[in-house]
Amino acid sequence: MSATIIDGKQTSSEIRKEIASEVSELKKQGIQPGLAVVLVGDDPASHVYVKNKEKGCEETGIDSYKYERPTKMKEEELLALIDELNKDSKVNGILVQLPLPDHIDEHKVLMAIDPEKDVDGFHPINVGKLMVGNAVLVPCTPRGTIELLKRSGVEISGKNAVIVGRSNIVGKPVSMLLLQENATIEICHSRTKDLSEHTKRADILIAAIGKPRFITKDMVKDGAAVIDVGVNRLETGLCGDVDFDEVKEVASLITPVPGGVGPMTIAMLLKNTIIAATQQAKTN
Ligand code: NDP
Repeated sequence: MSATIIDGKQTSSEIRKEIASEVSELKKQGIQPGLAVVLVGDDPASHVYVKNKEKGCEETGIDSYKYERPTKMKEEELLALIDELNKDSKVNGILVQLPLPDHIDEHKVLMAIDPEKDVDGFHPINVGKLMVGNAVLVPCTPRGTIELLKRSGVEISGKNAVIVGRSNIVGKPVSMLLLQENATIEICHSRTKDLSEHTKRADILIAAIGKPRFITKDMVKDGAAVIDVGVNRLETGLCGDVDFDEVKEVASLITPVPGGVGPMTIAMLLKNTIIAATQQAKTN
């Protein structure tokens, strides 16, 4: 058996088209969504991500505002910029590109973003809403993961979902979303004993580890849907956390890296921006 390869690029492009038509509807109602992206420092990968985010805005009719600042920017200057953006009615979503330079406290910065403009869904208020099941702004990569599963026709309800990774930006939120979709979840991490005993029970396996080709064929149940969130930069190029060539022989569906979850993350950021714009139009 060879797995169906889930095309994240194609799915993301369909979602962008849907977003573009939602944006033109909003414009008819006098709502112009706007996203501010703040980039501090010169991390090359961050520059690529920000460029792709701007491109996504342009494609869908969302206004984008870019704030590029040098590595030496002071924490209080960044906090002042966020305060300004919180008050700016043209800005519905604020994204601070991570990682930040070491001298800036990431937690403090994320806490400073107005939760209604927190399109990354990292503010504790939005994390809390996700826990209690009434989230509005959900972290983009986890949301994109669920969307890929649904649009690929994967039944989630009642299935065993195993998530390898428990970070605040991927592992935990994707687990909460799968639970809300009525999967039975197991969250594994670096202290999990006999990891493959867990992963082999997965109907849906999510890898968010950050270790190249860590999930091998012997760790995967026949017919599982495998979503590879990992992005590892090797000399030979990008690769995921799943040994794609091996695992595709046993899985029923699998995402490639690149071209799987990655493109979905930006599509979900655009989606969150229009959700935020709509919410703000109701309350202001
Ligand atoms: P973190 O480093 O924050 O978390 C990694 C998780 O993997 C931790 O929970 C860690 O466990 C667990 N882990 C590490 N080693 C093992 C092991 N040997 N066995 C089991 N679990 C292990 O990474 P992120 O969650 O931020 O990202 C994960 C991957 O996803 C990365 O490759 C990242 O680049 C990628 N990513 C991709 C995105 C996209 O848009 N496609 C967006 C965000 C991330 P413990 O908690 O015990 O340390």
